[in-house]
Amino acid sequence: MAQVQRMSRLMIKTLRDDPADAETLNHKLLVRAGYVRRTAAGIWSWLPLGKKVLENITHVVREEMDAIGAQEVLLPALLPKESYDATGRYDEYGDLLFRLKDRKGADYLLGPTHEEIFTQIVKDQCSSYKDLPVILYQIQTKYRDEARPRAGVLRGREFQMKDSYSFDTTDEGLAESYALHRAAYIKIFERLGLDHRIVSAVSGAMGGSASEEFLAPAPAGEDTFVDCPACDYAANTEAVSFVATETVDGSAHGPVEDLDTPDTPTIETLAAHLGVPASATLKNLLVKVDGEIVAVGVPGDREVDLGKLGEHLAPAVVELVTAEDFEGRDDLVRGYVGPQGLAKVRYIADPRVAPGTAWITGANKINTHAKNVVAGRDFEVDDYLDVVVVEEGDPCPKCGTGLQLDRAIEIGHIFQLGRKFADAFQLDVLGQQGKPVRVTMGSYGIGVSRAVAALAEQTADDKGLCWPREIAPADVHVVAAGKALQTELALDVSEQLNAAGVRVLVDDRAGVSPGVKFTDAELIGVPTILVAGRRSAEGVVELKDRRTGEREELTVAEAVARLT
Ligand code: ATP
Ligand code: MG
Ligand code: MG
Ligand code: MG
Repeated sequence: MAQVQRMSRLMIKTLRDDPADAETLNHKLLVRAGYVRRTAAGIWSWLPLGKKVLENITHVVREEMDAIGAQEVLLPALLPKESYDATGRYDEYGDLLFRLKDRKGADYLLGPTHEEIFTQIVKDQCSSYKDLPVILYQIQTKYRDEARPRAGVLRGREFQMKDSYSFDTTDEGLAESYALHRAAYIKIFERLGLDHRIVSAVSGAMGGSASEEFLAPAPAGEDTFVDCPACDYAANTEAVSFVATETVDGSAHGPVEDLDTPDTPTIETLAAHLGVPASATLKNLLVKVDGEIVAVGVPGDREVDLGKLGEHLAPAVVELVTAEDFEGRDDLVRGYVGPQGLAKVRYIADPRVAPGTAWITGANKINTHAKNVVAGRDFEVDDYLDVVVVEEGDPCPKCGTGLQLDRAIEIGHIFQLGRKFADAFQLDVLGQQGKPVRVTMGSYGIGVSRAVAALAEQTADDKGLCWPREIAPADVHVVAAGKALQTELALDVSEQLNAAGVRVLVDDRAGVSPGVKFTDAELIGVPTILVAGRRSAEGVVELKDRRTGEREELTVAEAVARLT
């Protein structure tokens, strides 16, 4: 049976002041309430209460993944370079990757995500169509040398991710695996009590056709998404606008009004609006991201093939702008458009992305996974790609209502990868007809440690953390507000509740004033607070709801009955 957690024995030191380096609510509160401790930039230690919350989230994720038939595995974080060379990602990841050598000088990396290794495992383990479909997942530590590890556990350089990978023989199978994940994610985030929106994202050079992000609206979020107040349209701004102004023959197509399409704009709609054939080659590609012109790109002397870009076109707000909008903005981003309409851009002014590492596809998804390109060899630094931003009030592409712009935290991401990774490793299985069939894959992530931060951001109030019950480190926080009598009663109630399966944290610390205990209880954020105070002699306690502040006096028997 679980034990009552006694604060007199718990390793916890709460702080009255915010840590000096903390900018966001979750960072301040998780540190002050003693859930986590910073070990180095972007590297966090989970203390007893924090570990419980992390475990609670893990538990929900595991249950819902198991429920869709996914099989849990555990892969190493320390990985051989060769696997990532096979897909080119060892180089493409650039500075994001932690690289190291063993004693013999062989190259390794700390895994930022595991598509390569899972592909190799399935190649080993599965040989026939009868072995598929298969969904594998792990809840494991990931490493990314983020340019700006900030906001506490929201963006770690070491963090916990649930990553899963689906393997199917047909496109329909992949769509099915993707749908299973989508439904499981909705259940997971609902159970976690995370308010979230599902937005279209562009998979870009990940190589897939469908990709959606799960965003938890919160001011501390690092993503900006557009949201229609009137219909269900929502999209990450990274996936939003897609613009062309000029054809290669120099005929101007600006200034032109915004393209207000009733539906997902297709390349045909865009071309029709521009008055060019869908196969036209355009000179300028202009994209808005995050309320600002963040990137500048397609070079005047290179060309974008509309047809190819169409492959990457996401549900989008299409806005047309003039080349003048970008005059003088060549300090922003430099880049080029490469094979398959992929554009390489260097984000010089966008602090979210380290110079030289950002990628942009035809549909402008910033992406660090694209192939194959070396600065200097494949592009000149004076090539420009123009990028603009969606603004508040821009028309919704579905219904025309003015869009809202909101900040959010990316808590999950689902991708249809297609055959990109299977191609890299020649992952085939024997098909029904006795011939080899190339496998098609999906990859799906949830930021498990990030979810702790997202929940803190969404639920905290001015007194402290305020967890949903399923995620809280305990169901009830019992406070002994007084001397021996109160402590005795508090411990007695705690044991009764514990025996009934209620998770109890009891503040039985001697020599700590009731005032400090109340402040700590509010900071720690367990949903119900039970106080053994001045009426303890009569066997009366006070129940307080952490969120609403509502209080009620009850006998011990009534309180126990209420909470069990
Ligand atoms: P972001 O845009 O925030 O950098 P990402 O798109 O790079 O995230 P994915 O590669 O899609 O992340 O990884 C899957 C999930 O892992 C993300 O949706 C997010 O919840 C989580 N995650 C990614 N990077 C971090 C990080 N540095 N710290 C904590 N969680 C992270
Ligand atoms: Mg990232
Ligand atoms: Mg992202
Ligand atoms: Mg992502």
